[in-house]
Amino acid sequence: MDSVLATHDLVVVGGGLAGVSASLAAARRGLSVGLVEKGPYLGGLATMGLVAIYLPLCDGEGRQVLGGIAEELLHLSLKYGPGQIPEPWQDPAATQKQRAQARYRVTFNPASFALALDEIVLASGITLYLDTLCTEPILEDRRLKGVIVEGREGRRSLHADSFIDATGDALLAQRAGCKCALGQNWLSSWFYYVGARGELQLKSLGAPAHGTGDPTAKKYPGLTSGDVTTYLLESRRLVREWCQENTDKYPAILPTLAQLRTPRRIEGALTMEPQRREYEDKVGLIGDWRRPAPAYQVPFRSLYTLEFDNLLVAGRCMAAGGDAWEIMRVIPAVALTGEVAGTAASLLAGGSVQNLDVRSLQEELRKSGALLDENRKD
Ligand SMILES: Cc1cc2nc3c(=O)[nH]c(=O)nc-3n(C[C@H](O)[C@H](O)[C@H](O)COP(=O)(O)OP(=O)(O)OC[C@H]3O[C@@H](n4cnc5c(N)ncnc54)[C@H](O)[C@@H]3O)c2cc1C
Repeated sequence: MDSVLATHDLVVVGGGLAGVSASLAAARRGLSVGLVEKGPYLGGLATMGLVAIYLPLCDGEGRQVLGGIAEELLHLSLKYGPGQIPEPWQDPAATQKQRAQARYRVTFNPASFALALDEIVLASGITLYLDTLCTEPILEDRRLKGVIVEGREGRRSLHADSFIDATGDALLAQRAGCKCALGQNWLSSWFYYVGARGELQLKSLGAPAHGTGDPTAKKYPGLTSGDVTTYLLESRRLVREWCQENTDKYPAILPTLAQLRTPRRIEGALTMEPQRREYEDKVGLIGDWRRPAPAYQVPFRSLYTLEFDNLLVAGRCMAAGGDAWEIMRVIPAVALTGEVAGTAASLLAGGSVQNLDVRSLQEELRKSGALLDENRKD
């Protein structure tokens, strides 16, 4: 069965911040883009998963290392409030020393961000397929010809010249037969509650107190229905226990996505490593969100596999090994890799991603405000 629902230049699977960034980058370069999201709105873990902290665009030493769409989305997250940019990052005259005192990050309201994401995506002419599940790729030799989607019309296909897997767990790449690596997921539970004075508050339970650094803590792969169900039920058990201990407060909003951090990623043409900071095919910089440290370069080869010519990945399912995965799985990094993947798709012109001219890609990224090492904002 292959009843075609639509044909686009590019189909992006997954409407988290990686998929949104990829779609924006490609659409702004003239591609017709179809963006498929199984949930009712955009933003993925950042909105449906209630992960409301946009981690830093700086290196913690007072230098901005991320610009482009990652910075645009950080500002967009505050459009319908509340929240604000830290003082030294609002003031263009602030010194590096002043900026080293406060990281360039914000806390946003997930519902506000979701509303603003609709606007920016529609304004770019992207075709949205919401509440639509992508189940598998349609393969033809070394290329993806289409993807199967399950929506209100039943089982249909979307065809395109190129595809970006932004599913968060490399579902499309894995179903195409690409080699993948599995991660560890500690139990987490982020939710909103109403406090004693009626105020709405974000609360996070679970890791790190119950996970990171504790080798005995239970880990969840999150790749079978049984495992995800257990994870979701366990994370809500934490909320229930918290309610029993905090009788003057009550839960208000629960996440509608499983809050798994690193379920699965591709084995890329190259895997970004934590020990290595420089790559000749660098396409962006990322700071360590946990501590002040020199920025890491992100290699383009970590965004595609060797198996397929027209498949890129974006977001937390890119090829980043060990501690590099921890650095690359967060919001600013997924926006960066989304922008890179979408820009790369716009340059493919029927060719293969393995042979893409990286210099042209770097040039194109610079033009749209992305920061590579030589022009990071001091
Ligand atoms: C508990 C927890 C706390 C975190 N804390 C922070 C934090 O404080 N700050 C920070 O910056 N980052 C944090 N992160 C990490 C960050 O939120 C995510 O890694 C990041 O938002 C992932 O973006 P993404 O677009 O790669 O993936 P996702 O946000 O997972 O987006 C993937 C999207 O693809 C969709 N999708 C998946 N499969 C299909 C399919 N088959 N068909 C159609 N659609 C599909 C999903 O519904 C989802 O919307 C946290 C993560 C977790 C789990």
